[in-house]
Amino acid sequence: MFTVLAGGVGASRFLQGLVQVVDPSEITVISNSGDDVEMFGLHVSPDTDIVIYALAGAVNPETGWGLTADSFAVVDQLERFGYARWFNLGDKDLAMAIHRTRLLHEGIPMHEVVAGLVRAWGLGCTIIPMSNDPIRTRIIGPDGEIPFQDYMVKLRTDVEVRGVEFAGAEKAAPAPGVLAALRDAKAVILAPSNPIVSIGPILAVPGLRDALAHSRATRVAISPIIAGEVVKGPAAKMLQTLGHEVSAVGVARIYQGLVDLMVIDERDAALAPAVEALGMSCLVTDTIMSSDEKKAALARTIVAAL
Ligand code: GDP
Repeated sequence: MFTVLAGGVGASRFLQGLVQVVDPSEITVISNSGDDVEMFGLHVSPDTDIVIYALAGAVNPETGWGLTADSFAVVDQLERFGYARWFNLGDKDLAMAIHRTRLLHEGIPMHEVVAGLVRAWGLGCTIIPMSNDPIRTRIIGPDGEIPFQDYMVKLRTDVEVRGVEFAGAEKAAPAPGVLAALRDAKAVILAPSNPIVSIGPILAVPGLRDALAHSRATRVAISPIIAGEVVKGPAAKMLQTLGHEVSAVGVARIYQGLVDLMVIDERDAALAPAVEALGMSCLVTDTIMSSDEKKAALARTIVAAL
């Protein structure tokens, strides 16, 4: 069994490779629900949904988010009633949110809701949200707290991140299946996701960091930082303002004690000794997942190294 801790886009790309290399029935994804947000009275889970859409081959290739050939008739109409238009939920995407919200209102726990969505999309892997309890990532900026999607979408990450909070985490429990997936896996893979706001909320669920620290699985992390830069998103500037080194070594330091093997890009080969000095092995390879072939190649290299 392979257990993958996953955020959104970076994790999706890696998982698209992994399913080409190992049987999807062998893969359990633990998904970040700290990005979840209520929009128009509906429960939206951006990270979980992008992983589902990516594995179903349904992501809009032009934007890299949302569903392919989606339309925006509903959000356009909602604007007429005074709803803000900044969160671009497509019509098909809204169908997921409507269905999820109805089931949650009926009292179905989130992990069962997600399992149903995974079945409906015909996926062979298991996806479990990190917790059934609400955990909300908040950015602390110069003028106070900002809900995560406001920071990410409305403000386009144009805020100096001075801190990050996972509201509700201290009272949350791991969703059923999460701890077993960490304990019983052959390998636990931390996807090349944002270590602060994608993997961070998962590790903030009580019991989860400990389960990873003591798992007998081989624990692997892939750096989302290549040559001091991100492929996409705010991870680099966030690491910098929070006082971390913006490099694969900085990421490895965050994961110290939690991973056995750090995968870094070949452009960062010179950093391998510094990663190894942190008490982990280092695998240097091409980690730019710009095609299906390259996604599969990275997954194959990691599986072989295990
Ligand atoms: P988000 O929740 O949608 O922001 O997605 P994640 O947290 O899962 O992923 C964001 C991170 O993925 C960014 O820091 C990117 O640098 C990283 N990323 C995206 N594509 C690639 C890639 O092809 N290779 C590597 N190594 N990292 C990537």
